Amino acid sequence: MHAAFAVNTEQLCRAISLMATAPDTATPELPSGLPDLGLGGAQTLDALAPSVLAGARDLGAPGFFAHMDPPTPWITWAMQLWTSSQNQNLLHPDTAPKARDIEARVIDWLAPSFGMSGGHMTPGSTVANLTAIWAAREAGAHTVVSTRNAHLSVAKAAHLLGMFHRPIRDWDAAISLDGCCAVITAGATSTGEIEPLDAASGALWRHVDAAWAGPLRLSDSHRHLLDGIERADSVSVSAHKWLFQPKESAMVLFADVVAAHRSVSFGADYLAVPNVGVLGSHGASAVPLLATLLAYGRQGVAGWIDHSMELAARLVRQIDVEPDLEVRTVPQAGVVNWRHTSIDAGEVQRQLPSDVFISTTIIDGDPWLRSVAANPMADPQRVVAAVAGLS
Ligand SMILES: *Cc1c(COP(=O)(O)O)cnc(C)c1O
Repeated sequence: MHAAFAVNTEQLCRAISLMATAPDTATPELPSGLPDLGLGGAQTLDALAPSVLAGARDLGAPGFFAHMDPPTPWITWAMQLWTSSQNQNLLHPDTAPKARDIEARVIDWLAPSFGMSGGHMTPGSTVANLTAIWAAREAGAHTVVSTRNAHLSVAKAAHLLGMFHRPIRDWDAAISLDGCCAVITAGATSTGEIEPLDAASGALWRHVDAAWAGPLRLSDSHRHLLDGIERADSVSVSAHKWLFQPKESAMVLFADVVAAHRSVSFGADYLAVPNVGVLGSHGASAVPLLATLLAYGRQGVAGWIDHSMELAARLVRQIDVEPDLEVRTVPQAGVVNWRHTSIDAGEVQRQLPSDVFISTTIIDGDPWLRSVAANPMADPQRVVAAVAGLS
């Protein structure tokens, strides 16, 4: 029995070498029902490598200029291995004597860039938005106001929290924001648009959803794009987007973390510390994030973001010289909306060669191609050539 729970250096090393060399063979059929007898660990590596490794979408491939999911640096792979071997539960100091400190430290490192005093990790900005809007409700907000840029998780949070949700056209509209939680989007999912961060000054609570664009705050050359974020009451940032982290990794940050955490805490007899936020048991997603920042520093990670921004700019320049292609607007935060002037975006997507990936979105009723600069290894020329070559 113990062998399954001990370090098996030989098979773990083989698992790592398979990461570089996994055979791209046909995926063996998985049993259709729960197997009674196991294959053993070694055979399981061979059985799963073709689908889990070779069969995965390569998010760092030159032709992948599509979604908000980034490739991840190898140090995060090592940390995921370590954290799964130790299986700490950050709910309780007994089961995570050091991992809780690591999360507190990485939040301490990042919160000041957003003018926030603290916060905690969540499995995504969906949960970060829910937690922030929950804190707003506890502070007295009864209505969530957002524009069409808002991510669907904002309406979902209002629904779950029993609050009204009022979608508005834009923040200029002369509407009363009494008793409202205003959710301002910094980096819209479809377009990358950064809404005015001084909007909604009359709201009871101002939450900035910076799930996508938040990491620009780490960059000397792009930080200014989010000036004003430091006056928010709360901020969401997804680390598994532009901080290049494995899923699930994000954070909710608060201007007044003591008051906000108190308002979203529950006690329990068996817990030494109150349970803060939406999650019960949760793991050490802060460890790969801290390791990435320790290994490469703010400047290293900002360099990947800056380079991605440059790739988005290069993509635009390449599209501009093609007579059959057009860009919708100058991209604000690395999301490029573009199209072929005579082929519908969905049709373009269906005709793409197998090594090129572009996502699509609908803006004001019109379909657009959407390329998100989450892959620092993307090749804009390859991607543009693939679309320009269609007819
Ligand atoms: C991706 C995204 C979310 C949701 O974040 P997850 O990490 O996928 O849960 C929320 N808001 C915006 C603007 C996003 O782009």
